[in-house]
Amino acid sequence: MREEFVLINVRPNGEAAKDVVVRDGRFAEIVPHGSRAFGGMRVVDGEGLLLLPGLVDAHTHLDKTLIGMPWYRNDVGLELIDLIENERRMKRELGIDPQRQSAAQIERSVANGTTHIRTHVDIDTEYGLAGLEGVLASRERYRDIVDIEIVAFPQSGMLIRPGTLELMDRAVREGADVVGGLDPSGVDRDPKGHLDTVFALAERYRKPVDIHLHEPDSLGVFAIELIVERTKALGMANRVTVSHGFCLGMLADKPLARLGGMMAEAGVHLMTKGGAASPRPPVLDLAEMGVNIASGCDGVRDTWQPFGNADMLDRAAIVSQRNDFINDVHIELALRLCTYGGAAMMAIEGYGLSAGCDASFLLVDAETPADAVASRPVRRAVYRKGVAVARDGALVAA
Ligand SMILES: [Zn+2]
Repeated sequence: MREEFVLINVRPNGEAAKDVVVRDGRFAEIVPHGSRAFGGMRVVDGEGLLLLPGLVDAHTHLDKTLIGMPWYRNDVGLELIDLIENERRMKRELGIDPQRQSAAQIERSVANGTTHIRTHVDIDTEYGLAGLEGVLASRERYRDIVDIEIVAFPQSGMLIRPGTLELMDRAVREGADVVGGLDPSGVDRDPKGHLDTVFALAERYRKPVDIHLHEPDSLGVFAIELIVERTKALGMANRVTVSHGFCLGMLADKPLARLGGMMAEAGVHLMTKGGAASPRPPVLDLAEMGVNIASGCDGVRDTWQPFGNADMLDRAAIVSQRNDFINDVHIELALRLCTYGGAAMMAIEGYGLSAGCDASFLLVDAETPADAVASRPVRRAVYRKGVAVARDGALVAA
């Protein structure tokens, strides 16, 4: 139920205390705390809490989390292909139900202050569109508490597995919002063919592109060059994302500056999760080059690895630590990946804490944004479009 109220005594991004009028799901007015009366309006006391914009998980895999399922003992080999093959098998053997599992992660994410999610969903010849159908059902079920964008993701390869492209096409027609891709050389072994196919599908349905790129060194650099070329040729600035881009963490200064400059100029976003076991794209350097950077939880407790808690404040801490960020301004940059960076990548309209923006935000007991990242305090309240959806780390009952 949307109503008008005033949230008094909150500190947007750690600034001086403000009073915030919320009307029709948006921030209508933001004034210094106590500077005027709000006769008759319902008052919500913000108790001097820190106000942050809703967290954005710009890369996760809702269809295959094991949250709530029995502990999965991981004995899998460490090569990408081992992990992919094992997952295909386990989906069957463990009975990973995409609808049930996506619901479990969505509830945890929202309780942790996430208001927007981009999820990749496996599209594969073995289980067809089952993952998409499950996540679509969860998206519909939770449509009043979170916004979910779905990437059709050819996890097992696209050109090497006949029938996958047709399924990708159907996935986009049946509700996927973004065309995904995966290691054009490493998995499909045909970089030009893979990327031409991904971008052709995106162009046909006017959809953005988001490509998982784990490829190292010059192989990864070549893939990014091809992605930049296609982004420019098709006029897709700000609609294309390279997820992971590990090769960016393996380059000397000069080649990094060249590639980062190309991505910034073409409007190609980067998503990095600050993973411990892989090369690290240098967030500060790339941000200074003008690359828009987002972050995400990626796999949360799945057959690939058992870690993750669907908490984007935690993710900001991981990105900070992986980048040796200790200064407040740098930790704030890491948090920016988990808020504004993701919002820019997903082209979320009305995102932010200014008057006119959607009133999608969280309140935490922290002094500053950097304190919130370091302390990861309980989420005292989470609002989406002016409606409270979670309190004290638990969902508000519907
Ligand atoms: Zn991923």
